[in-house]
Amino acid sequence: MSPNAEYFGSYRGRFAPSPSGPLHFGSLVAALASYLDAKAHHGQWLVRIEDIDTPRMIDGADSDILATLDAYGLHWDGTVVYQSQRHALYQDTLNTLNKLGLVYPCQCTRKEIKAMGGLYDNRCRNKSLPQSQNAIRIEQHFPITGFNDAIQGRVDIPPSLAHEDYIIRRRDGLFAYQLVVVVDDIEQGITHIVRGADLLEPTARQISLFNQLKQSVPFYSHVPLAVAKPGFKLSKQNHAPAINKTNPMPTLHAALRFLGQPVDSLENYDSSKALLQHAVQNYDFNRLPKVPEIQVRPTAEDSFEFIPVHR
Ligand SMILES: [Zn+2]
Repeated sequence: MSPNAEYFGSYRGRFAPSPSGPLHFGSLVAALASYLDAKAHHGQWLVRIEDIDTPRMIDGADSDILATLDAYGLHWDGTVVYQSQRHALYQDTLNTLNKLGLVYPCQCTRKEIKAMGGLYDNRCRNKSLPQSQNAIRIEQHFPITGFNDAIQGRVDIPPSLAHEDYIIRRRDGLFAYQLVVVVDDIEQGITHIVRGADLLEPTARQISLFNQLKQSVPFYSHVPLAVAKPGFKLSKQNHAPAINKTNPMPTLHAALRFLGQPVDSLENYDSSKALLQHAVQNYDFNRLPKVPEIQVRPTAEDSFEFIPVHR
């Protein structure tokens, strides 16, 4: 149980995969961690498909992900939300920020930003560039130079990064991840975000956007990222295999061990449902590993060993 028991009963968590491929072990870990934390709080667990970045999407990956969650007994509450169907919601927020004079177009190229030292220096704030064909940035009036993560502890953000006006709509017209994730979390009433530690640093900007939009900030917990080797996230790009949908038990058991949760040996469970039920009943937030990454090494089919990577 995470430390903030006052949310008991009104907890709303979520898993938000992008449909760029099938679920692999790393994405299962993130799904399972958010599910366990939600269910141990008697909370709701929502699924949102983050398909805003259309060039990276793969046809049919969304239904494959949902079928995999289902096979693992990770049943979601309510209706699955698709970001691609929520443009009006994101545009509304952009319009609101625009009316408040908080956003502006920027035409700086990647090369120009590199010449600024790698971070954009807010130089287009007072230029009056056209909105179309340009990226839209938000004026950063709520810089977050640090925050406390419930698992990873204190996270410090370099001040220059914290003060950077960041992009909320890309030059190609797509809404940026930082905007849509916060707008969705607000609209879905999310109270707790449990996800992989690859999203630890972007959390600062998300907190600043919650503050900018005058909304309460959810409670953040970042579980270790599953990596192929230190610094390399398990992903489609480094050939992380899709997890086994027909025999979920061994992989579910491995994911629980990855998360440091108390489990008996596999043969003591009759079904993946029984294993998951045991995991919810015995969920121990304090045993979630406090490292940013854990290396996953396959040892045999559906079998893995785990090596924590320390900072
Ligand atoms: Zn610019």
